[in-house]
Amino acid sequence: MTDAFVPPYLLALRAQERPSQPLVSCIIPAYNEAENISPMLETLHHLLKQAGFKHELIVVDDGSKDSTVEKVLICSQTLPVTLIQLSRNFGKEIALTAGLDYANGDVTVLIDSDFQHPPDMVPVFLEEWRQGYDMVYSVRADRTDESWLKRLFTHAFYQLANSGCQHKMPADTQDFRVLDRRVVLALRQMPERNRFMKGLYHWVGFTQRAIATQTQHRRAGKSSFNYRRLIDLGLTGLTAFSNMPLRVWTWIGSTISLCSMTYGGWELLQTLLYGNPERGWPTLVVAITFLGGVQLLSIGVLGEYIGRIFTEVKRRPHYLISHIHPAKSAEDKQQYEHSTTPATRATDA
Ligand code: UDP
Ligand code: MG
Repeated sequence: MTDAFVPPYLLALRAQERPSQPLVSCIIPAYNEAENISPMLETLHHLLKQAGFKHELIVVDDGSKDSTVEKVLICSQTLPVTLIQLSRNFGKEIALTAGLDYANGDVTVLIDSDFQHPPDMVPVFLEEWRQGYDMVYSVRADRTDESWLKRLFTHAFYQLANSGCQHKMPADTQDFRVLDRRVVLALRQMPERNRFMKGLYHWVGFTQRAIATQTQHRRAGKSSFNYRRLIDLGLTGLTAFSNMPLRVWTWIGSTISLCSMTYGGWELLQTLLYGNPERGWPTLVVAITFLGGVQLLSIGVLGEYIGRIFTEVKRRPHYLISHIHPAKSAEDKQQYEHSTTPATRATDA
């Protein structure tokens, strides 16, 4: 994994712009994370305090059914925690989107609540941000923790999504990242409902730095991403960032037409030369079923795109919020004086 080249003068310029006492916003999406969320909030608070950063911890509860909310509210008595409760489970991409809408910081950290993203890397990422990078993100040092099937899917996804693109999406990146305020403001401008955040981070550009990170095992509980959800996310990413699945049917269709014309010519020649003995039944069945399958598959691909266009034109809000519990302590109020942009996308239910 190599970074795109960033001219040193640009980094120096950005580094000069960094505030000496930045406010760090941490966005932590949580779905049924009762066992992980309190230790995660305490760890982040401790790490950021030790590194001398003012900070706010924004937990986005994505419709948890366990005691996640209760645990967060207990933590918010002593820690600078803001809790945003979505009205139901909207999925991680939307939970991150909601968090970004409410982040007040000069710099924002995105991190999972299950300790798979090592929190002790946060100060390292923030240091790179101070050096002038607008986005510092984690790439997996390896994928040995994943099954071969998941690795195969991921590989196929990036191959397909990047085919024909000049500006290729880097593989093996994670949501674990640090974003400068200008990146957060850029991401807030993205109106799409079908959200594939890793594609959007890449699309917005800015000066980016990749850091290899060893993904840890989940501390407790189990992953919410089963194969069905992963395939859904993969299809969203693919249809949002590539027209290749649509275009490929032009090629397949042309090739099949060419083959069938050649075959027809050959049959005609045979008949003219040797007459027409009764044969060809298997050929007919194979041709009909094959072409039927190809047609249904291509209609399915069209359906994937049209379904997503349908979702976009409905223009529903990205998410609904049932409650916001702002951080309590006086120290935090002081921090929030820093606050600049109000939420742009949120709809309070
Ligand atoms: N998550 C979420 N909404 C969901 C599923 C997951 O906010 O619908 C959160 C989850 O609590 C965790 C992060 O997203 O903080 C990553 O989820 P998970 O660990 O289940 O995914 P994996 O790491 O296995 O890809
Ligand atoms: Mg996880």
